[in-house]
Amino acid sequence: MSNKRGLFPILLRLLLSAAAIAALPGCSLLGGDGASKVAGSEAASAKPQVVRYDGEPSKELPFVYTGRRELALTFNGLADDKTLRALLDELDKYGIKATFFVPGMRAAEEPDLVKEIVSRGHEIENNTLSRLDMTKLNYEQIYNEIHLDNEIIERETGVRPSYVRTKSGDYNDDVRLVAAQEGMKAVVRSSFFLHNWNGQSEREKLLYIRKHTTRGGILTVDTEELDDVASVIPLFAEAAKEVGYRFVLLDELVRHGSERKPLEQIEGYDAIRMNADYGNAKYDLIYNKPNAGKKIALTFDDWGTDYTITKILDILDKYRVKATFFLRANGVEANPNLARAILDDGDEVANHTYSHPVVTTLSPERLQEDILRAYRVITEAIQERPTMLFRPPTGKIDETTAKVIAAMGYDKIAQYDVDSSDYLRDHTAKQITDDVLSQAHDGSIVLMHMLDDTHTEEALPAVIEGLERKGYKLVTVTELIGEKN
Ligand SMILES: [Zn+2]
Repeated sequence: MSNKRGLFPILLRLLLSAAAIAALPGCSLLGGDGASKVAGSEAASAKPQVVRYDGEPSKELPFVYTGRRELALTFNGLADDKTLRALLDELDKYGIKATFFVPGMRAAEEPDLVKEIVSRGHEIENNTLSRLDMTKLNYEQIYNEIHLDNEIIERETGVRPSYVRTKSGDYNDDVRLVAAQEGMKAVVRSSFFLHNWNGQSEREKLLYIRKHTTRGGILTVDTEELDDVASVIPLFAEAAKEVGYRFVLLDELVRHGSERKPLEQIEGYDAIRMNADYGNAKYDLIYNKPNAGKKIALTFDDWGTDYTITKILDILDKYRVKATFFLRANGVEANPNLARAILDDGDEVANHTYSHPVVTTLSPERLQEDILRAYRVITEAIQERPTMLFRPPTGKIDETTAKVIAAMGYDKIAQYDVDSSDYLRDHTAKQITDDVLSQAHDGSIVLMHMLDDTHTEEALPAVIEGLERKGYKLVTVTELIGEKN
């Protein structure tokens, strides 16, 4: 159905019908928590007075906490019939189920389209009635925007929305209170919002989407804002396929996810701390393990996209090898699920600073602040105490700096004695493999990286096979040095 009626009369009609519904005693449409908070509903007033909810605000969802290889593709707005049907056909073609945040006004104008979305197996959620800027509305206006959208979508589809997201994704505490008042599960944001292209090539578009294809991600496109919205679906499909992730409905993603404990509730969260008294701190600089026999530890430094790190994890899995990952925590902060995925795979997760400074260039206090921040970010991301090893960026360290680090609780500073030089973009897979195999000996620690656009992943199978051919067993640093951290 496509009609030319203006929006304002529809809004009026909706408000009046909502008031009429509210005036009916015991009306099931306003049942539940919401009804008790709509004062005056029994008094048959022309318009119900909304009372501010005094319970807990609803949850916020910028992404879903999970290490699973899943994410959600979501849409805002409801484009015209032709655009929307082309989008639905494209989603069907790639077997993607998506979540549509639909404004109530558009759902009321296009009930057939909304029913079509549901009949094709997608999910409909609340994009507010008319997509106003919620931060400029009072509580009652916000209530009406969210409540009436729920009413219309339930009327047209038979299912009441569980999630609400505003047009821009911005909201204030009142939006969270109204969502709770409406009995909804969460106020949703986006881990990635694709607005519009700016002359990129198809390849550049794919790389951009790939960069944001993260575990537990909530990827968003506005169907009314993005030109030719159907044309991006093959890019999303290809990016997910390349990294081996699957699009699921938002509610499924949430059900598979878990709650994150606040940092202070994680055992060992304070095992690393600021300590100005470092003069006599004892440290152990570990370059390799003498007398280790035929054992070698592979280590991966820094950070990368899901695409790169998942590939490394898959290769390690294929060869049943466990490794030690030294994480740059400002990357972890932006994508904590990927750090958890490394841990879930059975590998070790350790500290490589927050901002990757050369540690000898910082004052003791600034250095400790950076390392402490990294420890907290990593601990919160993986929800447990990380492996108690620290590695300085670039390997540069001196005696004073080593003491400053040891005084915090990192008495084991994990260096390396085999440098693969794989961080150099023009270092080929063959060169990386040769560098490792020519330097490796009993008890070596091998430095590699998890950086994008290098040849690490290409070299890794040959590195593992070459070392195993020489009779080496590949172990974590903890196992190599023979101590449980
Ligand atoms: Zn590094």
